[in-house]
Amino acid sequence: MHPLKHLHTVNAHRYQVMINCFKVGLIFQGLTHDLSKYSWPEFKIGAKYYRDGMSPHVGERDEFGFSTAWLHHKGRNKHHFEYWIDYTHEDKPHLTGMKMPVKYVVEMFMDRVAASKIYCGKDYTTYKPLEYYNRKKDYYAIHDETRALLELLLKMLAKKGERYTFAFIRKRVLVKGYDVLSGRVVNSSNAANQ
Ligand SMILES: [Zn+2]
Repeated sequence: MHPLKHLHTVNAHRYQVMINCFKVGLIFQGLTHDLSKYSWPEFKIGAKYYRDGMSPHVGERDEFGFSTAWLHHKGRNKHHFEYWIDYTHEDKPHLTGMKMPVKYVVEMFMDRVAASKIYCGKDYTTYKPLEYYNRKKDYYAIHDETRALLELLLKMLAKKGERYTFAFIRKRVLVKGYDVLSGRVVNSSNAANQ
């Protein structure tokens, strides 16, 4: 059990997300990001499976095949695309990713930037969040436009850095929403599901 180390990781992560959310004007989300990590179902697992540089969910999953802490977390935090998986409105409904409100896409982006900094430490570069996304993206059940917006921000961060990307979020993304994608190529691998 490493409750203090886990607590420090959660606090440090929340602090980074808060500062970056404030920079783009998302005050409430900055203050409330990941608060459920202090709840007992999540905190006890985080303390038990604490490992430097890795999510505690991985440890719980290795042991039981699934993570109760993660299921608890993603069901309560709208900045995770997994929160938005629901049945389609069709004759034969199936589960798929719904289009996320833009403010939560931005919070998801900030979450990934902060997590990459904590997990990569001194090896962090602005390319790390994009590299992490590229390793995982084929497994994601996420709406095409939400994916396109997340990719746009991750690629922009990699090439142009935080200052430029945060200004783009503040002045364009949070003003125009998904319209910032118009004229850009949206991967439609799941187009039939929309
Ligand atoms: Zn979270």
